[in-house]
Amino acid sequence: MAIAVLRTTAAALTDRGRKRATNEDAFGYSIEHGAFVICDGMGGAAAGEIASSLAVDEFLRVVSDRRDTQSNPSPGEENIPEIIAEAVNAANEAIHSRAERNIRLSGMGTTMVGILVEERQAWVLNIGDSRCYCLRDGRLRQITLDHSLVEEQVRNGRMTSAQAARSPLRNVITRAVGTQSRVTADIMQLDAEPGDLFLLCSDGLTRELADNRIEFILKVESPLEDACTRLIQAANKAGGNDNITCILVRIG
Ligand code: CA
Repeated sequence: MAIAVLRTTAAALTDRGRKRATNEDAFGYSIEHGAFVICDGMGGAAAGEIASSLAVDEFLRVVSDRRDTQSNPSPGEENIPEIIAEAVNAANEAIHSRAERNIRLSGMGTTMVGILVEERQAWVLNIGDSRCYCLRDGRLRQITLDHSLVEEQVRNGRMTSAQAARSPLRNVITRAVGTQSRVTADIMQLDAEPGDLFLLCSDGLTRELADNRIEFILKVESPLEDACTRLIQAANKAGGNDNITCILVRIG
């Protein structure tokens, strides 16, 4: 049986928003290696920017190295969870060791949300409160679960979503890359279908726009670049309180 090679297309955009002086989000992708990642950094001074860009660079470096050396593996032959774990560890180690060498960078860290596409599989990884969604047949579905104090309370039934959105603790994340000597990502394996549209985004998008707004914008047939622009414009119009970053990945 012939296996159709899916053609993946992507677009990405980041914006400082309307309130922050700097942009601590970072993103990167490699269509060739089927790898897409967004990191939202935290830490004083320039630490957040350093953490997020280190994490993106290390993640893509490891994934491209590993996928280059495995020349033309058969579908299913690659050990994707192992590649993801190695890439996350490299990012964690790079941030953690740099923070240990420089007191001004102490405690810096970052979220990380990413996708690795392998034939008909999409592997989603997550640490923190950036998110991955999938639009299929006009319906938007959140793939990742936030590692945040308030979202964990919501999932345990101890808090409503409305209370979570107003909570002074809403920025507290329970897992981050670089703040500890080790970190483990949530990894989810999904069957990808032609036409699936994956959205990776930082919380600067999801704090401003409810899921049904995002779904409405993504359902409009348009080039991916235009959809990224419209998402960021809408988030800025709704307040733009934080840095906003999105990557759209279309499975062809
Ligand atoms: Ca943020």
